[in-house]
Amino acid sequence: MPEPSVAIVGSGVAGAAAAIRLAELGVPVDLYEAVPEPQPIGAGLLLQPTGQQVLQAMGLLDGALALGQRLGRLYGDTPQGRTVLDMSYERLDASYFGLGIQRGALMGLLWQRLQQLGVPWHRGAAVDGFEQDDAGVTLRFARPRPVPARHAALILANGSFSRLRSGMKVRQHARTFPWGAVWTVLPVPPGFELNELRQRFRAARQMLGLMPVGCAQPQGEWGINLFWSLPLTELSHWRDTPGLDGLKRQMAELFPAAAPVVDGLHDASQLREARYADVWMECWHDGRVLAIGDCAHGMSPQLGQGANLALIDAHVLAQQAQTGADWPTVFARYTHHRSAHLRFYSQASRGLTPMFQSDAVVAPWLRDQFFGWGGRLPFIHKQSIATLAGTKTGWLFGRLKL
Ligand SMILES: Cc1cc2nc3c(=O)[nH]c(=O)nc-3n(C[C@H](O)[C@H](O)[C@H](O)COP(=O)(O)OP(=O)(O)OC[C@H]3O[C@@H](n4cnc5c(N)ncnc54)[C@H](O)[C@@H]3O)c2cc1C
Repeated sequence: MPEPSVAIVGSGVAGAAAAIRLAELGVPVDLYEAVPEPQPIGAGLLLQPTGQQVLQAMGLLDGALALGQRLGRLYGDTPQGRTVLDMSYERLDASYFGLGIQRGALMGLLWQRLQQLGVPWHRGAAVDGFEQDDAGVTLRFARPRPVPARHAALILANGSFSRLRSGMKVRQHARTFPWGAVWTVLPVPPGFELNELRQRFRAARQMLGLMPVGCAQPQGEWGINLFWSLPLTELSHWRDTPGLDGLKRQMAELFPAAAPVVDGLHDASQLREARYADVWMECWHDGRVLAIGDCAHGMSPQLGQGANLALIDAHVLAQQAQTGADWPTVFARYTHHRSAHLRFYSQASRGLTPMFQSDAVVAPWLRDQFFGWGGRLPFIHKQSIATLAGTKTGWLFGRLKL
């Protein structure tokens, strides 16, 4: 009898990376994906030095560097010209930078590696539920896969809106965030500054982000990811009110210098909608079942950490699997090793997001008064850039070791 494999549900960043890291150790893995033909699409991502380190360990960093755009600085201000954020990676470490990359480019690299490793990737296989016992886990599928599958363990990597997560006997809650965004990738206009992620804010109600993100495939067209924040109440009907022209007018009023990029928007179908959820779990394991990625700790994208955290989850999981312990022990140790880092970023995201996406008045006012000023103090700047770089495991002390 062959050794029963580990099932991974979801082939986004978390699931694909976990499948790769485990397969590299020789662990038999089956990867299940609900979408019949997954497409390499999705918002531009800022890959932090921590996520880059995991890609390096997978042998995928050179490919990502060739497709992505190195970013040295994050700069955000108000229409009145008040600096809110001004962070340079090199002030933390001369070798650090953010990598702006299209999600499609990253997924292309991960999926190619999966195929090289020969990981069975079952597409169009939506997992509907599971039961675990002392010896393994049984997966049930939504039609058209009526036969349940038996596995040694189960890793849930099916995103923030997972309906499988509630099958874990762990205290948890997931709250859809009241704000979302529309985004797209547009061509780079001549003379555009490619070294920085640029943001413009009006209180916490309006936010335009422009991030150079390289190209989706070799020799492709280089792009800029445009991110426009919207409350969920407006996200569902922006095509009617204010419509594409109205939205473009709002963008141009907020940030006139962005006009050459915004001019690339000529059809509402270019803009994709993004909704996110804030996911909290008391721990991420329950016997033979583990949750990773957004399924375990979904958060708003304000801190630019979600894909990085997913990559680190996969890396730490493989480090624990390497010990050869049984799956419940591996998963319990994983929770222990991921705790400080994940708790810090969940708290930071919950604390900071209302300053950037909300109807609040006082929080963004305080942000505008103090962030720019505080950022000029070396200690505060270092803490802010360490937070952005993904290395922090505590509010004052603690640095992630991979
Ligand atoms: C607008 C926006 C900007 C962002 N910017 C950044 C950034 O700059 N930096 C960063 O690091 N992160 C960023 N993120 C976050 C990042 O995209 C996510 O954290 C990351 O993609 C999560 O990956 P995941 O694999 O956990 O989940 P997902 O990407 O959601 O993948 C889940 C997969 O599971 C599949 N699935 C779902 N249910 C089932 C089922 N029942 N059976 C089988 N398969 C199933 C889905 O089809 C999907 O393929 C951003 C997110 C958004 C929305």
